[in-house]
Amino acid sequence: MPARTRKGQDTGSNVVSLSGAVESHVLIADRMQTFEASVIPVWIFDIDEGRVCWTNDKALALWNAGSKDELLNRDMGSEMSPTVSRRLKQYQEDFYKGASFSELWTLYPAGEPITVRCMFRGILLDDGRMAMLVEALAEDSQTPDVLRSTQALLHTRAMISLFDQHGELLYENPAARQSRAIKTKTLTGRLIKSTDKRALTSALKRYGEYCFSARVETTDGARTHEIDARMSRDAVTGDPAVLVTEVDVTEREAAEQKIAFLAHHDSLTGLYNRTYLTQELDHVLRRADADGKKVGLLFIDLDRFKHINDSLGHATGDKLLVMVGERLRSCVRKTDVIARLGGDEFVVLLSDVMRHEDVATVSNGILAALARPMLIDDRELQVTPSIGISLYPDDGKTIDSLLKNADLAMYESKDGGRNQYSFFAPYMNERAETRLELESSLRKAVDQGEFELFYQPRVSVAENKIVAAEALIRWRHPELGIRQPGEFITVAEETGLIEPIGEWVLENAAIQQRIWHAMGHDISVSVNLSPRQFRSQDLIPTIRRLVRMTDCNPAKFELEITESMLMGDNESLIKELRQIEEMGFKLAIDDFGTGYSNLAYLQRYPISCLKIDRSFMKDLSPEAIAGVIINMCQLLDVKIVAEGVENEDQLAWLAERGCHEYQGYLFSPPLPVKEFERRLINEPAPGGTFLIG
Ligand code: C2E
Ligand code: CA
Ligand code: CA
Repeated sequence: MPARTRKGQDTGSNVVSLSGAVESHVLIADRMQTFEASVIPVWIFDIDEGRVCWTNDKALALWNAGSKDELLNRDMGSEMSPTVSRRLKQYQEDFYKGASFSELWTLYPAGEPITVRCMFRGILLDDGRMAMLVEALAEDSQTPDVLRSTQALLHTRAMISLFDQHGELLYENPAARQSRAIKTKTLTGRLIKSTDKRALTSALKRYGEYCFSARVETTDGARTHEIDARMSRDAVTGDPAVLVTEVDVTEREAAEQKIAFLAHHDSLTGLYNRTYLTQELDHVLRRADADGKKVGLLFIDLDRFKHINDSLGHATGDKLLVMVGERLRSCVRKTDVIARLGGDEFVVLLSDVMRHEDVATVSNGILAALARPMLIDDRELQVTPSIGISLYPDDGKTIDSLLKNADLAMYESKDGGRNQYSFFAPYMNERAETRLELESSLRKAVDQGEFELFYQPRVSVAENKIVAAEALIRWRHPELGIRQPGEFITVAEETGLIEPIGEWVLENAAIQQRIWHAMGHDISVSVNLSPRQFRSQDLIPTIRRLVRMTDCNPAKFELEITESMLMGDNESLIKELRQIEEMGFKLAIDDFGTGYSNLAYLQRYPISCLKIDRSFMKDLSPEAIAGVIINMCQLLDVKIVAEGVENEDQLAWLAERGCHEYQGYLFSPPLPVKEFERRLINEPAPGGTFLIG
């Protein structure tokens, strides 16, 4: 027999005709013959088409249809609610697995609701698609409330199921059915953790109810459900039963966790953030008080990180920060806190510290860990930290004072040459105040024009004749007298004051070059560019304006930059250098040998002059590095200037190797304009001595 009767559902598959390949080839009309004369309404609903595709006569009355043709032609799909059509799709899938259901359904054959208890099963159509065979078992005359609650149960997204006292499933609403995998059809079957299973069983026994949130196995994989289980009774048998309501809270929980995470973490590195650090520091200090221990706070700032960001791009900078975070983590215990305060500033909080030495050991570890080059985007990068350390309770009792003092100690490390750590000491406070004063008086100096340019002669080695002049800034302080650039350039750079100051220097040096030219001295003038000035968008427009305003000769004007400014090979750097070159200016590398000593720069960039740092003048052995540099420059046809030449031996050594020019106290220190001019025409300074600038 192709189709099973209602009673046949307890044996084998519930899908009509699925039991054999041959049967599925028997036409629907033949297979349905037994139902034709049935006293109960039977029809087949084509889920894909949203139509009844077969019906017996009895069903016509239920559907309030005049004829079979009329019913078969009704389009039920277009009026169907999305929930109902989703559910039917789910049924279709369930039918493939052999499922059958009995449910109360409300039909609207003539706009009026009729509630019937229906039995649903799958049936394969002639074309092989799965349809739904419906037998309307009995019309139900329930009260409106029952009807409504039944409908609510069918349509809600909450998963509702009823289990008997042995944990066997008695009923599940469509939402529960859709989510429950076949093999988990018992009370505790879908709970993933065995601790949850035990807790549920024992709480039900003891208190009769249990509300909890747990990971459960579903047809969509593991999800988090909020579960409410309570003892009740089976309405049919009156036996004790467990009613379970579940809501999927996976997304909500993930969102909550994300929000909680972000509130306390830095999204780039995953390290803690300032908020967490402040909260945690409070606990850590109190714990240290109780244990009679110290707390070490390390303030870490990466050296020249801005430069990496500017030259290699932010994406690379970000990767580097992430890697620094990982390296820091490898240097401390799990219980120590690492936070990123923003930018390239990190804080490491060491609890449980007994002595200075413990903190020093960790700091040394950090220096060593960061010293290893980092491979980022196929490029080996290296970054060094400047670390400042404050200790609780010695260096401060509050979070703010500890952070501030560690920050001051960090500046001490920067001033000391970077890549080192310093412990806070009270004098640093005074120095910080002095620095603040310096900043404000420097601002005043910019406004009131307290700067002056000195010039140091650059001399040709072969002829011992002045061929150029390097402009070196001096600050004529109204009370303190002349101050050297070493005392204020760094602060000017950090505060941005270097931009107006640098512009002033460029303008005055250009005017000076014009004046000397007019006086008949055809010498070059060189000017030092600070990193910040060099990176500024204003540099090119400024020098363009300079040429127009002063009518100086760019070919006799040299810009001195340091090697570190050339690091990285980004497009904009090359473009900027080319623009400078096209305007006719000359570019020199200053202090060569103190940085990366990469002679490749000379080939890659339009550099016409290289100044060997004065530190090289100390070693003038035959195999001295200065000699190697001079040789290289001769091969590359780059002019070479030796700085800091203080005695005749040095000059003789340079002359022997063919160095082009030199600069240094041997010939003259930097001089005020008038004195420089006297040197130009070979007059000795008053009293026969030279002023040391
Ligand atoms: P620099 O560009 O390397 O300038 C040479 C420095 O070496 C000058 O120091 C000069 O006085 C000093 N010097 C010259 N000959 C000798 C010598 O024989 N022996 C020794 N031991 N030193 C010698 P100064 O004028 O104090 O300038 C220091 C640095 O300040 C400069 O180093 C330069 O980097 C910076 N600087 C000076 N003027 C400016 C400026 O206008 N703008 C910018 N951005 N930086 C400037
Ligand atoms: Ca210089
Ligand atoms: Ca120099």
